[in-house]
Amino acid sequence: MADRTNLQSIILPSREQNPAKVPKTQRAAVASAHGNALEIRSSEPIPQPRANDVLVHIVRTGVCHTDLHALSGDWEVKSKMPLIAGHEGAGYVVAVGDGVEVLREGDRVGVKWLGDTCGACEYCLTGRETVCPNQKRTGFDVDGTFQEYAVVKAAHVVPIPEKVSYEQAASILCAGVTTYKGLKESEVKPGQWVIISGAGGGLGHLAVQYAKAMGMRVIGIDAAAKSDICHKLGCDAFFDFKDKNIVKSILETTSGGAHGALLAVATPEPYQQATSYLRPWGTLVTLGLPKRGSIIPADIFTVVMQRLTIRGSIVGTRTDAIEALDFAARGLVKVHLETKGLSEIKDVLKEMEEGKISGRIVLDTSK
Ligand SMILES: [Zn+2]
Ligand SMILES: [Zn+2]
Repeated sequence: MADRTNLQSIILPSREQNPAKVPKTQRAAVASAHGNALEIRSSEPIPQPRANDVLVHIVRTGVCHTDLHALSGDWEVKSKMPLIAGHEGAGYVVAVGDGVEVLREGDRVGVKWLGDTCGACEYCLTGRETVCPNQKRTGFDVDGTFQEYAVVKAAHVVPIPEKVSYEQAASILCAGVTTYKGLKESEVKPGQWVIISGAGGGLGHLAVQYAKAMGMRVIGIDAAAKSDICHKLGCDAFFDFKDKNIVKSILETTSGGAHGALLAVATPEPYQQATSYLRPWGTLVTLGLPKRGSIIPADIFTVVMQRLTIRGSIVGTRTDAIEALDFAARGLVKVHLETKGLSEIKDVLKEMEEGKISGRIVLDTSK
């Protein structure tokens, strides 16, 4: 086992107090073809870590909309098949491959969408690994977290702080880091206004908490029924998306428009609306991943005259993930989630497809 006493400037994970013994076989949700239903298998072989890999016991895994796309194959880019999907894994290391120096058995770590990057391209070399063209995506290009034991690249797991539970960490590793990064990309400064569209939803409720913790003033937009929850989360103002005067109300509340807006929707109207309520020099950040061909409609004259920025944001780097988890460790961000068993995954995905899930779902892999 590697000696870690002389390591400097390395963020070491917290340690698991009750590590389980690795069994011979495991439970896993395996898809054999796109569009086919998953099969829950109870005696799948446990993969073995190769050089620079670690084997992580996935204690909890989140379920994300992206998993639906991976499994259905409705994006132009297709996942591998057969596939074990899932990319919001939280657990601990149970075995390390050759060449792994920093991690050891028992370390609490998170497994996220960005599973590997080349470290040598122009983007990796400039801290922009999220667009590395040679990246491997967890639960898409390589098997993911809908299993009890997953092999992942040691360099890409993120340490889970002691004060963050596996449940909380799982959702923060994707929904949390995605919204946190999106807020950074909005370039909204402390004291300035940001609009969070869908503020009461799975991504939105995290975005509101991060924005408040980052010192922003927040306007939530959602269905009228979400008003209470949005105020509880810390929104300074809330508007019903059906409100006909929404643009006028935002311009009044913000004395001239919001400095930034975070949108994760696939319909065109909210984007059109956003260019009307942004302040000159404002930034619109989109986190949505709809089907190919969905476009952002924007009035070019307005975009030019108001010097607006329209920007995409995709997950986050390892540093973003470490920072996002740190907000949770300090009690500033809490995921609203429901825990179910891995054996219930088919029902969860069906409900997600039908739009019946509002918060985040986390699966206990032991059930
Ligand atoms: Zn996700
Ligand atoms: Zn790269």
